[in-house]
Amino acid sequence: MIRAVRRNSNSSRSCPTFVALAVVLTIFISAPQLFADEPYARNRDYDLQHSKISLRFDLSQKKVLGEVTHSLSILHDGAAKIVFDSASLTIQKVIVNKADAKFETSAEKLIIPLAAAAKAGDRFEITIRYEGKPTKGMYFILPDKDYPDRPSQIWTQGESEDTHYYLPTYDYPNDRLTTETILTVPASWITVSNGKLVSVTDAGKGLKTWYWKESVPSSTYLITVVAGEFDEVKESWHGIPVTYYAPKGRGDRLPAMYGRTPAMMELFSKKFGVDYPWEKYAQAMVDDFVAGGMENSSATTNTSSSLTHPKLAPEYLTGEDDLVSHELGHQWFGDLLTCKDWGNIWLNEGFATFTETMWTEAHYGKEQADYQRWASRREWFQSGNLWSKPLVRHDFDDSSEFDGNAYGKGGWILYMLRHQMGDDAFYAAIKHYLEANRGKNVVSADLAKAIEESSQTNVDQFFNQWVYGAGAPKFDLSYTYDGEKHQVALTVKQTQKIEGSVGLFRVPAEVEVTTGSGLKLYNITVATKAAQTFWLPADSAPLMVLFDKGGHLLKSAEFHKEKKEWLYQLKNATELADRADAVVALGKIKNDEEVVTALGETLRSDKAWGVRAIAADTLGQLGGASASKSLVAALDSQDKPWVRSRVVSALGNTKEDAGVIARLNAIAKQDDSYRARAGALQALGRLKGPDAFATLEAAVAADSPDGFLRNAALRAFGSLGDDKAVPLLLQWSAAGKPIDSRTAAINSLGRLKKDDKEITQQIAAYLTEQHFPVRMSSIYALGSRGDATAIPALETLLKSDDLSIEMVPMIKGQIARLKKPADGKPGGSHASGDADEESSESSAGGPSTTEQRLEKLERLLQEMSDRLKSMESRLPPPKQ
Ligand SMILES: [Zn+2]
Repeated sequence: MIRAVRRNSNSSRSCPTFVALAVVLTIFISAPQLFADEPYARNRDYDLQHSKISLRFDLSQKKVLGEVTHSLSILHDGAAKIVFDSASLTIQKVIVNKADAKFETSAEKLIIPLAAAAKAGDRFEITIRYEGKPTKGMYFILPDKDYPDRPSQIWTQGESEDTHYYLPTYDYPNDRLTTETILTVPASWITVSNGKLVSVTDAGKGLKTWYWKESVPSSTYLITVVAGEFDEVKESWHGIPVTYYAPKGRGDRLPAMYGRTPAMMELFSKKFGVDYPWEKYAQAMVDDFVAGGMENSSATTNTSSSLTHPKLAPEYLTGEDDLVSHELGHQWFGDLLTCKDWGNIWLNEGFATFTETMWTEAHYGKEQADYQRWASRREWFQSGNLWSKPLVRHDFDDSSEFDGNAYGKGGWILYMLRHQMGDDAFYAAIKHYLEANRGKNVVSADLAKAIEESSQTNVDQFFNQWVYGAGAPKFDLSYTYDGEKHQVALTVKQTQKIEGSVGLFRVPAEVEVTTGSGLKLYNITVATKAAQTFWLPADSAPLMVLFDKGGHLLKSAEFHKEKKEWLYQLKNATELADRADAVVALGKIKNDEEVVTALGETLRSDKAWGVRAIAADTLGQLGGASASKSLVAALDSQDKPWVRSRVVSALGNTKEDAGVIARLNAIAKQDDSYRARAGALQALGRLKGPDAFATLEAAVAADSPDGFLRNAALRAFGSLGDDKAVPLLLQWSAAGKPIDSRTAAINSLGRLKKDDKEITQQIAAYLTEQHFPVRMSSIYALGSRGDATAIPALETLLKSDDLSIEMVPMIKGQIARLKKPADGKPGGSHASGDADEESSESSAGGPSTTEQRLEKLERLLQEMSDRLKSMESRLPPPKQ
């Protein structure tokens, strides 16, 4: 799945996925999580083979009326009962092999005693009639007094263990079954479920019955039901139906965001060597979705915020392709092959993250893929709480297993395998892994075995250090040149702390040595040693030495080079990662005109937009008159919106300067790029210029596509810090206003008039609303206010039974924040985790103060509530 929330990733300076956000927020968390998933696969008593699921709905009561017939066979002799997972459902009747049966229920189980002990292989057909108002798992998004015109939608979200809140079943991934799903809904509705649509028939009384049949087995967390008022777009791929659904009225947004799906199916089928395995592929976009996307087999559900307004869509280089390719990749990895337990979730999420990069590289080119990989590496190293955890782990009581290791590091590990094995051997191994395990549950050893069988390559050490071990190499690099022997002596030290599951790494690396007469490449293998020296021939003193040219290792590196070497690398390195590294290294040199000039030149002329954008970030962090001048000059170049908005944002980090503010004001009022205008509004808020309040107020009053500029202005009021904005923010936070505007306003309310308890109470009142984004931003805003009177409301919320998995860590984090006395700074202090951020190479610019870090968190949050996005993939280039 994906969890949450991000802006279009290619582009924006911060496009946190929810995962990343959760990672950052984990800084605040100390207490164990209440609702951890079961880490190890259960022992099964039966094999559930087929479920025939019939559902009707009582819309006024938000109730599901269900009947399910399970076909199963017993696995052990002497079975005396059959137990299903079932929560918050009223069981009305149970029929076992056509006879009425007794049953008992507990909070989480339906227990059916058998009349006589059963033997292994005995088959049962069990029908359960039930009804209930699901607290999670199934969601009713219906018109109400605040949103009378919203299209009706019912949708489910099974992962991780929520299917049994609307369907009594076996709710763990280590079983697979086929399904029939029979949905009776108002005649004007559309439904989407797993498998093939067999029929739609009149059911009388203004109802129709939709009959779906899935004949390829998959796990119960992948069962899906979507029903409601939708627009539909139909395409196909090699005769397989490919459909997209948008809440009624937004169907025109589907082609631009989803139309590349068949091309992705083609690419992945070819590369994996196994054709898309399901009978159709549907993507249903729903409102208030509790995640970014969910790869239900043959029928993905995504957040409707992926339906970017047509006027904004061209401003995002890769659209929603990361989300679309991620969930599509899961149809092989996750659905056709499924992790045996949550401890191996990286086999789902790491592969889905890797498939994003396959599409990026094939469709947008190598440089775009290089840039995203470079950014995701930095992001992973910034997430200090991931460091000590192995990729495969079974101890996730205190943090979700859906973390930046499962996604980002998992994707990286597959990339490294591909790079080290070569494309042909790697994809042949993946094909073998898919074919050998098709329709099965897998653990990491299955992947290692498939690679070994296919390629005759022993990957035991690779798996030990990257999959079962934790951390990654941190290199300290330096070299000397011996003019007599004509040799470069490259010293490679591994400086990561060796403790827990973190050890020394053995990795291959390509080293480039460039001298006046050209470049030479050397392949070296870094051994599991703390320090090692490599002697490399060079005819004269090097102009440039690159370690791991092109950045193919998940590593951090402190390469001791002189300024002139970095300047040479910035201009001459052929690979994006090496130029980007040079930008970051130069950003650590303060008050140096030569550096600022060089970065300004890079911002103007580097061929890769990603490098230009990183240069813009870095100039913003360096600040000073020359840096501002370079940034302002870059605005004249009319670069792509995804660079232009970065330049504008970077200006918001420079010191207040009348010229800069005038320019930002002009952009905020008029520019070809909405993203640049939004960035200018936010920058004006941060710079707190003289007319900022009036500019923001005017932007709130004006119209723009999907309220894009209004929402940016509402968020900017939080940075501006002027309490005069409170009445306006309260007005826009109220029920009935667009959800995106509400979350923006609520975030800013978290930062203003912090001693006003009425504001705290108003935000606390939003906690129990149904709208997931409103709840999430309210939780965070209460933490930001530092008003401890909010603690009881948050603690009450923590006890409620309708929390989706991502809300729990968020609530606990904010309670911890409120309990910890502030250090005088707004929002309280939050020390642990800071060290990680400081020690990471990411702080290209100035000192990372508590306030800056807090701002970063708030920016992440703002981005998140700005638009709920899919969550999984990578984080963008850190800007800070
Ligand atoms: Zn996923």
